[in-house]
Amino acid sequence: MADARSTGVSATRKPESKSKAKKPSARALENAARREVIDTALAMSASGLSPGRSGNVSVRWQDGMLITPSGMAYDSLSPKDVVFVAEDGSVAAKSRKPSSEWRFHLAAYAERADRAAVVHTHSLHATVLACQHKPIPAFHYMVAAAGGTEIPCVPYASFGTEELANYVCEGLRRHDACLMANHGQIAIGNTLGSALELASEVENLAAQYVQVLSLGKPKLLNGAEMQDVLARFQNYGQKAQDD
Ligand SMILES: [Zn+2]
Repeated sequence: MADARSTGVSATRKPESKSKAKKPSARALENAARREVIDTALAMSASGLSPGRSGNVSVRWQDGMLITPSGMAYDSLSPKDVVFVAEDGSVAAKSRKPSSEWRFHLAAYAERADRAAVVHTHSLHATVLACQHKPIPAFHYMVAAAGGTEIPCVPYASFGTEELANYVCEGLRRHDACLMANHGQIAIGNTLGSALELASEVENLAAQYVQVLSLGKPKLLNGAEMQDVLARFQNYGQKAQDD
């Protein structure tokens, strides 16, 4: 438990041998990936995207993933607390318990071989829409940031279940983000940074859409208009936006 802190007592450790100096060891790479999971969870928390202890973060690693543990405050985490879950769902006996939502994280990697990071949050406005079972339509061109002409909302299933994992797979099959009915949202990316950025964009769009709905029926972009944006995002990435 407290042995994470004892690693500070390493003043007597010998410097690494010269032959190993150039290439980081597998252990160092894994440690850096674990650190990045923690940093992303902290950034998610600091940005207000995950009220309370909601939300979890993972990154593809070897034949499985590294995911935030269950029931621990992010600011108390050290790299060894991050949990490796193999592709068959198994976890090493000595490791922490993975986030209760590990099934849909793992399912997302199986569904989307082209993506390597997952961010799940209960961000306020995305969750408000999800509780009304409302997908986010093409009311704004930035909806294309999730890779389609809408951000879908998948049906409700109890947290942590295989049923929920199956729904999330459906939602992510052709989109990089979806809402989860009566629950929250999930975003995926090539990196932890891009998954977090998309989760933040989904929340931003959800907040705008809630306001738009309060003014009456939204005026949506048509298919051709959205295809144009999708093509530009595909060619130039989201940098094509007018920022
Ligand atoms: Zn959740």
